[in-house]
Amino acid sequence: MDVLVDFVNAALNRKERHQGASPWESCDPGIAAAIRKLTRLWAPFSTRSRRYPLYRLFGEIVGPAWATYVAAFPKRHFMRAELVRLDLREGARVLGFDGVRDRIRSIAKTASDARPRKSPITLSDWTVRARRNRPTATVDNVLSDTLASLIDLAAGCARKRPRTTTTVDSVNALRGEEHCRFCGNEPEVKSYLSASPALREVTWPHDHGNLVPSLSGRYCIDHRPRNHDGRWNPEYKRALRAAKELDLESQRLARQSASTSMRASRSGNVVVDDFYLALIQRRLLFPSDQGELRDLAARLVRNKVSDIKKFMVVLKAAGYKQREIAARCGISAQAVSKALKSLPAEYRLDA
Ligand SMILES: [Zn+2]
Repeated sequence: MDVLVDFVNAALNRKERHQGASPWESCDPGIAAAIRKLTRLWAPFSTRSRRYPLYRLFGEIVGPAWATYVAAFPKRHFMRAELVRLDLREGARVLGFDGVRDRIRSIAKTASDARPRKSPITLSDWTVRARRNRPTATVDNVLSDTLASLIDLAAGCARKRPRTTTTVDSVNALRGEEHCRFCGNEPEVKSYLSASPALREVTWPHDHGNLVPSLSGRYCIDHRPRNHDGRWNPEYKRALRAAKELDLESQRLARQSASTSMRASRSGNVVVDDFYLALIQRRLLFPSDQGELRDLAARLVRNKVSDIKKFMVVLKAAGYKQREIAARCGISAQAVSKALKSLPAEYRLDA
């Protein structure tokens, strides 16, 4: 039993450390320092974090750093008015951490939409850009990295808050992961905890009457290995076969989500890297959007968006003709046309 307790504690500590938001590369230094300070103070065994509510710590530490940053922000910049309106001293108390996160997200979206989209590129540009991929720290780069750092921080705070031991129907709410191993859904145990008694009876009829139903902490209802009647679940087997691809897509998307301005997926091919960069830019996803990222990865696998198709999509968006793409890929123009047609519009970058 002690071994189990140690194991659970180790897992929780590991999770705790992952939640410690670290500032993005070009984040404003004052705000970066505040983020580091707050993460140090919310460490599990710090007495201060136990005595102080987290929103208060957030307001006291991040609030003044934000005010200083905004005060020094270029007066004529079109985003200034919106930044001034964001009050991080009181924000977390009034809006909650999820609310703060959504506010900053919408500001980040406004800033990102206003920036000019990349102009079409040629293949020779790729090699040049691959070498010079690091953008200089302009006002806009600092702003986007600062907002992204704050989004991560607010998301980390939001996740931290309900993480106390609540016990419902003898099922420990702490059990299991945040998302299903194979998709963005919550694990079955979490669905069970949030379901109404009526819904529980419909969804878990076989376990009805049991004190503790056998719930999966790792898979969602659709993906649990065995159905509740004891039979193997074909969806699980199918997902398991695609697990390797799914993990690869998840890792690339996770890496790219940590940057909105440069290639970071490390797919092994700069053209394919550009596909991930464009995908993340369009959806404006951040590392804290774990569920959405997992869903996106699952959809890429399900829709068979292979690397060669990603390559084609990027070339097409850069203005290449189908026969030029065909020559690059070593296949016929008809095959290129067929492959591009088979892709859902959400993965086309020329739409
Ligand atoms: Zn699932």
